Amino acid sequence: MSKKWVYLFSEGDASMRDLLGGKGAGVAEMTRSGVPVPPGFTITTEACNTYYENNKQFPDGLWDQVLEAMKDVEAKTSKKFGDPSNPLLVSVRSGAKFSMPGMMDTVLNLGLNPETLAGLANLTDNPRFAADAYRRFVQLFGKIVLGVDGEKFEHVLNEAKGDTRQDTDLSTEELTDITEKFKQIIKQDAGVDFPTDPYEQLRYAIGAVFSSWMGRRAIDYRRLNKIADNLGTGVNVQSMVFGNMGNDSATGVAFSRNPSTGDPALYGEYLVNAQGEDVVAGVRTPRPISELKAEMGTVYDQFATIAKQLEAHYKDVQDMEFTIEKGKLWMLQTRTGKRTGGAAVKIAVDLVKEGVIDEATAVNRVEPAALDQLLHPTIAAAEKEAARKAGKFLTTGLPASPGAATGTVVFDPDEAEQLAKEGYKVILVRTETAPEDFHGMVAAQAILTARGGMTSHAAVVARGMGKPCVAGAGELKIDYKAGEFNVNGKTIKHGDAISLDGGTGEVFAGSLDTSEPTLTGDFATFMSWADKFRKLSVRANADTPHDAQVAHSFGAQGIGLCRTEHMFFEGDRIDAVREMIVADTLEERRAALAKIEPLQQGDFEGLFQEMDGLPVTIRTLDPPLHEFLPHGDEEIAALANKMGIAPSKLRSKIESLREANPMLGFRGCRLGIIYPEITEMQARAIFKAAAACKARGVHIHPEVMIPLVGDLSELKVQADLVRKVASEVMEETGQQLEYMVGTMIELPRAALTANKIAEVAEFFSFGTNDLTQTTFGMSRDDAGRFLPLYVERKLLKDDPFQVLDQDGVGQLVQLGTERGRSTRPNLKVGICGEHGGEPSSVMFCHKVGLNYVSCSPYRVPIARLAAAQAALGDAARDK
Ligand code: ADP
Ligand code: MG
Ligand code: MG
Repeated sequence: MSKKWVYLFSEGDASMRDLLGGKGAGVAEMTRSGVPVPPGFTITTEACNTYYENNKQFPDGLWDQVLEAMKDVEAKTSKKFGDPSNPLLVSVRSGAKFSMPGMMDTVLNLGLNPETLAGLANLTDNPRFAADAYRRFVQLFGKIVLGVDGEKFEHVLNEAKGDTRQDTDLSTEELTDITEKFKQIIKQDAGVDFPTDPYEQLRYAIGAVFSSWMGRRAIDYRRLNKIADNLGTGVNVQSMVFGNMGNDSATGVAFSRNPSTGDPALYGEYLVNAQGEDVVAGVRTPRPISELKAEMGTVYDQFATIAKQLEAHYKDVQDMEFTIEKGKLWMLQTRTGKRTGGAAVKIAVDLVKEGVIDEATAVNRVEPAALDQLLHPTIAAAEKEAARKAGKFLTTGLPASPGAATGTVVFDPDEAEQLAKEGYKVILVRTETAPEDFHGMVAAQAILTARGGMTSHAAVVARGMGKPCVAGAGELKIDYKAGEFNVNGKTIKHGDAISLDGGTGEVFAGSLDTSEPTLTGDFATFMSWADKFRKLSVRANADTPHDAQVAHSFGAQGIGLCRTEHMFFEGDRIDAVREMIVADTLEERRAALAKIEPLQQGDFEGLFQEMDGLPVTIRTLDPPLHEFLPHGDEEIAALANKMGIAPSKLRSKIESLREANPMLGFRGCRLGIIYPEITEMQARAIFKAAAACKARGVHIHPEVMIPLVGDLSELKVQADLVRKVASEVMEETGQQLEYMVGTMIELPRAALTANKIAEVAEFFSFGTNDLTQTTFGMSRDDAGRFLPLYVERKLLKDDPFQVLDQDGVGQLVQLGTERGRSTRPNLKVGICGEHGGEPSSVMFCHKVGLNYVSCSPYRVPIARLAAAQAALGDAARDK
């Protein structure tokens, strides 16, 4: 006995996806639950795999089983394959475990030849329909099975239709003529006569489906979507039903709920007198499914009932294909419906309310990354389409930070700030951005750059602020002097309006309508369920009281990273900071620091106030000092003037601060070690703010964090200093302050010696941006040259600055945590950095037992959901 290669639809069910493929399992399940499905059978994915092991021969027994199954289909349909008096026609459809769009098209109406064609015309008394069916069969078989270029058929068809007619307007004679031309093309290109024996047609078609599994398109698709090659595809052979028999026939596709809004109503389209993919292929303009209600009420009701039934059965939204033949409904496919982030949340919440699924299932139903769409303004698809038609599309850059924005074009950060103060909405357009542009970025609605990658300054800062950004739009030619940019032959001037979508990278001329994110009741409900399950805390990286407020509103449980230097750029402060940097003597430096201290204290008070009761981690000064200094001649002269020193002196100071490799240079704790007065000032500002807030009844939990520590001794020096200042402030104010001193682990040496570092550090926070940089030995600022190509050529699976490299950097995180806790068992450990809001990285942090992740405010909900799913994954495994 040979193996069972063939399953009748009535023999399979939904659980057999591996063996039957998604489509086969779906039609089997529908058949089993009494939904009208045209009879047929599925050839297993195992048969496909054996076909390849067998040097592309059908496995033993397969063909006999196919013949046997065809008899069953003949009996069920009361038709006979190849019999002119009552011909059975079939479709041959591929179907792997995972849907693979475009892998192999479906052959329809197989079994037609000149005799069965005549029979079909007679039997249906509809010669035109028969001719149309034959035309489609020869076209599909020629293209898909015999490999003839489909364009050639389209060309003949379009010639026949002319400019004004549709396919339904073609007469029987015209269709017959077209089919003859198709056959000639096939004869010429494939070198074969069109096969007339239906069983030979079937054999060929099955072989073609098997072969398509290893076709270029399929292989590429699997690489891209990380699907294994050894799954194989199923082949579904199914008796045809005809949506092209006249105006009482139709074909369509529909979702059981609206996949873009989640609205619980049928959503879809249909075409009267059409077959197969006509709806999707845009042969004619389809009509919304709601109109079917008026046109064929009974069928519509029946379909609505089946949709509900299938949805209840699968406990999720279904994406269905159907055909109506002379007023009778047939279901051809059902699968889980893809949906937008907004729809996913609404549907999950609705299904719980309807009692279909429980909360844990709901939480697992939404992709964390999909929440991003809920957290930013958007431009509706129709609005974009209209803009494209009106010729307003400009270019596409990298989707660096999601969200849509419109505003007038400004090139200068100062002007951006000024205009924003006056109430204008501006978009800052730069070749690239640098730290000194920060105030302009803050003021702008969005940022557009011509150069730079996903981790460029513009991209990272914009994501941190939750501000839309399109980066590296290489087609932009910016002319700062002329105050304009050119792109694809269009010129946009300073002051012109543009719109962009940072989620897709599209840029348009003019003001497109954007809609604000609505953090609706459903969204809040959904997040509260996620919070019930997660173990990991989620904090935010926030540098200003405003960021903190946004973070809080998105559910952050504290601040995991406040980068104090970002405060340095606001308003006139930068002047005092620059004075501090260029100071020659300790006295001068102290004088400048004294100006900064009250400003920093004010900021910290704002943060403590906003995060009342929650921990706030403040990092001491980290970046290389030259980042704060001006670089252009004019700017240098202006600053020198302000400071009352000679421009040449300022210039030589700036020169002296230049470093060959600033990322590994005079930065991090090295600054505070060489200039202790900086750390001292910052600590003083922190503790005075804490004391002042405490006096007002605010619950403060300051955590002072020392950056870029490589050796315990470095941390010790800085921690001692911080503690000394804390004691002084407590003495001065009479307030008892609870606080912690900890460190960032962002150098491999720190991770390796974490057991020693934990002798002093009361907490760890893995700075995974720098840790990735130092582990890979890849400068974040320079990786744009090669890293995108690495990812494209698959040398690396992902950009390690976006997705935590679990194999390498992750090991240091795990090992550092273990070693730290070997010294201090209750050591609190978190991560801050871009990875804190990236779902797979968050799941990793859960797995290795971190206490919290910290991410940009706008990613807090994403991290909350990812953490919940990680915990639910554990729960499922423990069962
Ligand atoms: P895809 O995987 O691209 O969705 P399908 O195998 O679902 O391909 O086939 C595409 C279309 O062909 C279906 O939507 C359906 O309209 C039509 N079709 C397939 N099989 C049949 C059939 N037995 N009777 C009528 N139409 C069919
Ligand atoms: Mg389909
Ligand atoms: Mg760092």
